Amino acid sequence: MPDLVLDRLAKRFGANQVLKDLSLTVTDGEILTLLGPSGCGKSTTLWSIAGLHRPDSGTIRFGDRVLFDGRGVHVEPERRDFGVVFQSYAVWPHMSVADNVGYPLKLRKVGRKRRRERVMEVLELVELERFGDRYPHQLSGGQQQRVALARALAHPPHLLLLDEPFSNLDAKLRDRAREWLKALQRQIGVTTIFVTHDQHEALSMSDRIVVMEAGAVRQIGTPTEVYEHPADPFVADFVGATN
Ligand code: ADP
Ligand code: MG
Repeated sequence: MPDLVLDRLAKRFGANQVLKDLSLTVTDGEILTLLGPSGCGKSTTLWSIAGLHRPDSGTIRFGDRVLFDGRGVHVEPERRDFGVVFQSYAVWPHMSVADNVGYPLKLRKVGRKRRRERVMEVLELVELERFGDRYPHQLSGGQQQRVALARALAHPPHLLLLDEPFSNLDAKLRDRAREWLKALQRQIGVTTIFVTHDQHEALSMSDRIVVMEAGAVRQIGTPTEVYEHPADPFVADFVGATN
């Protein structure tokens, strides 16, 4: 897969300058985590990548495809082929698990037989192969998150975007979910951008971490680099051993 490049993205909501010349590159196959305190612009960055927000300026490129350029180019979310699991993107309560997961394929006019096969494949990936006939209210919060993940993977995405996907889980389940997601990501090799405000989660999940504060990048590095060699006092305080 090509690299995703954000170049000097800026985004304002009213008087609030939420992203300030944000630049970063996400490389093939990695888990890149956006880490920072609540309100620093992580979700806005992810929504911009997904195409759900239009930045005010800057560019977003995926390989040689320009997704956004601030001069009129804005590829619609459904044409980006990115899988998204956002906290607010609940599964549909009136659809069975299998229908939820198969929905993106139905939208793309994939035939019934192939759809059923693919739904089984992704339900196996998230270890819910026996739950296809159930309805969301019959599942736990963690299982519902896995349904949302299966749906994001159904039409193999070019990029997986996860916005605090474990925030509804209790601490013990969250540990398990992290390990499980990391193993799954390795297995399928999909480039993943993961958002969290939890430094422990970032340190345990990521190939690289982008530490953000007030809409800007403070440091980009491996977990070891940002933990052992923080670029500034903010990073040291937010990620460091004192936490
Ligand atoms: P994070 O995900 O890091 O917690 P967000 O990207 O959600 O941060 O928000 C960054 C800032 O932008 C916050 O000050 C938030 O209040 C503001 N913001 C986010 N979305 C909107 C919106 N749709 N309209 C107005 N302000 C927003
Ligand atoms: Mg957020």
